[in-house]
Amino acid sequence: MTRARVVIAGLGDTGLLTARHLSRHVDVVGISTKPALVSGQELGMRLARPDDWAREYLVGFDRYRKLDGVRTVHGTLTELSLADRVVGVRLADGSTRAEPYDVLVIATGVTNGFWRRPDLQSDKEVDAALRAAHDQLAAAESINVIGGGAAAVSAAANLALRWPRTRVALYYPGERALPQHHGRVWATVSGILVERGVSLHPGHRAVVPPGFDLDRITSDPVAFSTGQPRAAADATLWTIGRVRPNTDWLPDALLDEHGFVRVSPDLTVTGAPGAFAIGDVAATDPLRGSARNRADRLLASNIRRQLAGRALRDYRAHRRRWGSVLGFQPDGLRVFTPSGWSFRFPAWSIQTVLQPWIVRRGIYGGVRRHR
Ligand SMILES: Cc1cc2nc3c(=O)[nH]c(=O)nc-3n(C[C@H](O)[C@H](O)[C@H](O)COP(=O)(O)OP(=O)(O)OC[C@H]3O[C@@H](n4cnc5c(N)ncnc54)[C@H](O)[C@@H]3O)c2cc1C
Repeated sequence: MTRARVVIAGLGDTGLLTARHLSRHVDVVGISTKPALVSGQELGMRLARPDDWAREYLVGFDRYRKLDGVRTVHGTLTELSLADRVVGVRLADGSTRAEPYDVLVIATGVTNGFWRRPDLQSDKEVDAALRAAHDQLAAAESINVIGGGAAAVSAAANLALRWPRTRVALYYPGERALPQHHGRVWATVSGILVERGVSLHPGHRAVVPPGFDLDRITSDPVAFSTGQPRAAADATLWTIGRVRPNTDWLPDALLDEHGFVRVSPDLTVTGAPGAFAIGDVAATDPLRGSARNRADRLLASNIRRQLAGRALRDYRAHRRRWGSVLGFQPDGLRVFTPSGWSFRFPAWSIQTVLQPWIVRRGIYGGVRRHR
């Protein structure tokens, strides 16, 4: 009997995890513009300590044991034909290829700032971009961080920790940052920011310069529509959460008014038989939290259920954001629950228990040491 063919569009955080659950049961083809997992997680650590970040979050596909047998295609998805159940891919040499599927998983994520872009990149280009952002911030004596979400807060905290003599200022529009987290999270995190010398500027809504795509760190003074004087700094990081779904390769009929993929609670794509969506691209709930809430297991199980003609299960979203905000810190990893309380993996446990056993073995099913 021939095995079903599952094409995973986008091998980022959620596409890769979905592939890992399916690889023993069906034929899996993973398509990605990146040559490796280039995770969307932990921006602060990525900017402040790129080598530490890369060790955990930039991982060659060939290092994942559960991806053995998965065929990866390094290219850009350009089209989807629903009638023929086939996607079109443009490869690095400019040639195109058609990849037919029985089941399609749409996991192409979002574009966010300069650190999450959908462009085709080689290993060298990924490394160079990582290094360039770090070097620019390392050379700055003052840094403005614009935005109040987890990426902004994590960047400010990690940059201030890494370069204590650099003046780091955080500008956000509300009374508090982290508005999508429980209030207790900001109470804890703002204390850490102040301790590290970050100056906090609530009620500042920055004006995005016209035509600026947030695709780089800028050096011009920042203006505010809320009336405060301009703020100058050697480097300004725009982490304002203005994400754009990577869906220009999909038919409009599959998208909501903001360009995200319409899904039913069971993660099937409305109007596209055989297609599912997951992660930041999927309009599951107002926070689009399926990546954060490990919906990959449910999705893989639903795909197997659908192939076997069984009933599918529904994804249940959290109403508040949760998880780590600052990433690994000298005292360990603090994880916030949806109700704002936190627990901490102590520093000694990160490389002895958390990463090797819970993350690499438990979540990813085994990761080889070297590429
Ligand atoms: C285990 C885990 C823990 C997490 N913990 C936290 C946490 O504590 N706090 C928190 O805030 N968030 C957390 N997150 C969530 C995370 O920050 C993001 O939500 C996640 O990175 C989104 O994953 P994604 O697969 O949707 O997108 P991405 O990881 O961005 O993957 C999309 C991929 O598709 C590729 N792509 C895009 N367009 C195309 C195209 N046309 N053709 C081919 N490829 C394309 C992109 O290059 C990229 O590789 C966690 C996620 C996971 C999996």
